[in-house]
Amino acid sequence: MTDVFADLVGQDEAVATLRRAAASAAALLRAGAPVATPAGGGDTDGYDDLDALAEQFDQPGDEPGEVPAAEADPGAGMTHAWIFTGPPGSGRSVAARAFAAALQCVHGTGCGRCPGCHTTLAGTHADVRLVVPEGLSIGVGEMRALVLRAASTPSGGRWQIVIIEDADRLTEAAGNALLKAVEEPPPRTVFLLCAPSTHPDDVSVTIRSRCRVVPLRQPPAGAVAEVLERWDGIAPDVAQWAAAAAQGHVGRARRLARDPEARQRREAVLAVPRRLTGVGAAFDAASALIEAAEAEAAASVAEADEAERAALQTALGAGGTGRGAAGAMRGAAGQLKELERRQKSRATRAQRDALDRALVDLAGFYRDALTMALRAPVEPVHTDTATTAAAGARKWDAEGSLRRLEAVLECRAAIEANVKPRIAVEAMMLSLWRG
Ligand SMILES: [Zn+2]
Repeated sequence: MTDVFADLVGQDEAVATLRRAAASAAALLRAGAPVATPAGGGDTDGYDDLDALAEQFDQPGDEPGEVPAAEADPGAGMTHAWIFTGPPGSGRSVAARAFAAALQCVHGTGCGRCPGCHTTLAGTHADVRLVVPEGLSIGVGEMRALVLRAASTPSGGRWQIVIIEDADRLTEAAGNALLKAVEEPPPRTVFLLCAPSTHPDDVSVTIRSRCRVVPLRQPPAGAVAEVLERWDGIAPDVAQWAAAAAQGHVGRARRLARDPEARQRREAVLAVPRRLTGVGAAFDAASALIEAAEAEAAASVAEADEAERAALQTALGAGGTGRGAAGAMRGAAGQLKELERRQKSRATRAQRDALDRALVDLAGFYRDALTMALRAPVEPVHTDTATTAAAGARKWDAEGSLRRLEAVLECRAAIEANVKPRIAVEAMMLSLWRG
């Protein structure tokens, strides 16, 4: 079965919920307005009955003659706002995109082959807007513009869909702008939010109360390995190693399996515990870790930065001559500054993400040492450093291994709480050395 949900690894329950909702949504469209199809069967005739359609959202059981009984069950049916929660890498945004595709699918199932499915998954569907925050938060201006556009009639005749990745990064003002739209949803608009959890720190209680939650779990390594083998054609032994090393993070596993540079960076991080032989070595290790994260981040944003600068300069008529061009360039300074501000914010975010990946790898190493010291019957996260972890377990025992694991987790928490990364990492390295 290669439909739009195929990439959602180990999430059977969530997929079942989303399939039911997509079927229910298709039934709503059939009941309320004819669906435009690429074959030319439909046109814009049926769009005037949007209010009736909106009412069905609130009382799905009101029109039993129109909506099949199973699909009219409010617990199984469609609603206009959803939150996908789960740990990083569990596939929150994959789930949101797959669901969006199923809603736009001309067959209403997420077949994976029709134009609706295809364009949604490719990110080119006219009625699907994807917000990927590039900086550290999503601003109110961006959100207002988005909410406004989302209220328009879907050009494809199905749904207007707004996917907000990292909804936990909304500013308070942006959250309020979104809340208004979620409280009084335009008739055919669907909001799909992704967040680590429904904790009030991540999503405001009022937004949460208007949304249906789809919890995703950390997929087991076996399921991740299977996907890498089946969809990415990766050799079984590499797939299994990468799935375990990525600790259930599908995207990370895929990168490790395919990208030699990602593997090298991981090896450098996992070499840290052996190198911590003194205070000087601890500070060196901290510098190396920070600089590696900076380099990785710089490489990842460089291309986008350059393309944006070039696009803006073209738009502003750089290289033009004459009085008009000179005037335009003066006005352009502000726009250029705004672009630079956005790019800087994105770079900071990329650095933090790179550093966090390194810390997760490091935490995995100390977790291995801890489980070995406890003789727990679990597979190591990092099979390739298992010997070093075993040596650590003998040297530090369970207590020392646990303290080191905690030092790594505290460092992650400190950076999340805006402590300067270098300071947090230096403190961590000293703790790892002293134990
Ligand atoms: Zn389809």
